Amino acid sequence: MGRDARGQLADRRLAAGARRPAHDPLSGEVDLRRSRLPANHRQGPGGAPAGADDRAVRRSRAPERRIIRAITDRGDLLTRTIIIAGGHGAFEPKKLPGYDMTPWEGKGAHYLVGEKAEFAGKRVVIIGGGDSACDWVLNLLGTASEITLVHRRAAFRAHEVTVNNVMQAASDGRVDVRVPYQIREVSGNGRIERITLFHSEDDSDVVELDCDAVLLQLGFKTALGPLKDWPLEVEKGSIKVDQVMKTSMEAVWAAGDITIFDGKLKLIATGFAEAAIAVAQAVHHIRPETKIQPKYSTPAGRAAATRSRTRPPA
Ligand SMILES: Cc1cc2nc3c(=O)[nH]c(=O)nc-3n(C[C@H](O)[C@H](O)[C@H](O)COP(=O)(O)OP(=O)(O)OC[C@H]3O[C@@H](n4cnc5c(N)ncnc54)[C@H](O)[C@@H]3O)c2cc1C
Repeated sequence: MGRDARGQLADRRLAAGARRPAHDPLSGEVDLRRSRLPANHRQGPGGAPAGADDRAVRRSRAPERRIIRAITDRGDLLTRTIIIAGGHGAFEPKKLPGYDMTPWEGKGAHYLVGEKAEFAGKRVVIIGGGDSACDWVLNLLGTASEITLVHRRAAFRAHEVTVNNVMQAASDGRVDVRVPYQIREVSGNGRIERITLFHSEDDSDVVELDCDAVLLQLGFKTALGPLKDWPLEVEKGSIKVDQVMKTSMEAVWAAGDITIFDGKLKLIATGFAEAAIAVAQAVHHIRPETKIQPKYSTPAGRAAATRSRTRPPA
């Protein structure tokens, strides 16, 4: 394989990495050290570069064209540029305030329902007072053997119709509604077997329930997640960018709701515009000889259409 062909292959591989779904680079860390390949990959016979990746290694020696290794949960990606478009960040289920359920995660404590079958024939306690909690009460009616809904307040925040349906199920004896109650303790031998509740306004009022699963439906919070470990300048939980969407990290741009700058508007239209600016900058970074302003497709399209209309039949 000739040197140019190897180079093109390297470019294609790098470009393929850059085209991976945006969530990949966001779910890992970025290692900004120079890209390093195992020694036996670095040199071919006679000291000549052995493969496509060698070009990447060679280029990584020029600080302005260095390769970023984005470490993701689906393998490493080598790329020259990254555009972060993580919105408000990764969604994480909110944890229960006041009682640490972490030791019971994977042992009967759930934050999400993957398959309803997980709860088939089980005594399920659902914690929460919003739409998700009430929706899951109704959804699991035909699946779980018993359902108890526990909310720390007397009033629910869920949609009125949903709350009415839950209350109807309660008066039919299909759901046990415990309000205003909170978790005092969870116990069991390796798995959740029992839950102790206390009344929010009278903590001497205690209820013990046998159960197999606790489904915590306390909403979601957004967070920068793994991005918080990147050396990015962050302000009010968002990534600070300049007027060309450049972050404080070399070769890393950002666009959309995750960015912050003077006059920032969190709208779909502005997100698209920021993405266009970031992409133009990233392309120019990879190929400095290209213009930042992209060519318009419209005049080219019109010219082509005009040409095809005026072309005489063969
Ligand atoms: C209720 C509501 C109503 C709105 N109504 C309007 C409206 O009417 N008009 C309007 O213009 N705008 C509206 N907006 C704003 C608009 O939705 C946002 O400006 C736009 O969606 C931002 O797009 P984005 O791509 O930056 O982020 P998002 O659309 O949030 O996409 C970011 C993606 O990145 C993923 N992600 C983040 N971090 C990670 C990670 N670490 N790993 C993996 N994946 C990750 C997220 O899961 C998500 O899929 C509304 C917003 C809300 C909340």
